[in-house]
Amino acid sequence: MVYTQHFCAKCASEQIRRNGHSGGRAKYQCKACGHQGYFQPAAVEKARQYAQVDQLLLERNSLRSIARATGVARNTIAKRVKKSGGFGPAPAAPSPEKGPTEAVGGLGAR
Ligand SMILES: [Zn+2]
Repeated sequence: MVYTQHFCAKCASEQIRRNGHSGGRAKYQCKACGHQGYFQPAAVEKARQYAQVDQLLLERNSLRSIARATGVARNTIAKRVKKSGGFGPAPAAPSPEKGPTEAVGGLGAR
């Protein structure tokens, strides 16, 4: 889960308040220094996080260690692995055709 950070970009103060919006984006004003700016959209933060995940995947870290380091859920990382074609040895092709089911069994075999 990614939360938008509510800090002033200039002085890193948490004392900011919404100050209207412009261009579809919410603006804030810092009470401490008077700086006005835009909230960082969650999508930007997510993109940064996913870039980090991809980098860690390239370095062949385990899913769990990546999840721990980045805070991205393990399932989300697993999905990205699948999408990107996977890392490590390619998984064996799943064989959809089932062998003949022999020896079904036992019902009234006595
Ligand atoms: Zn400030």
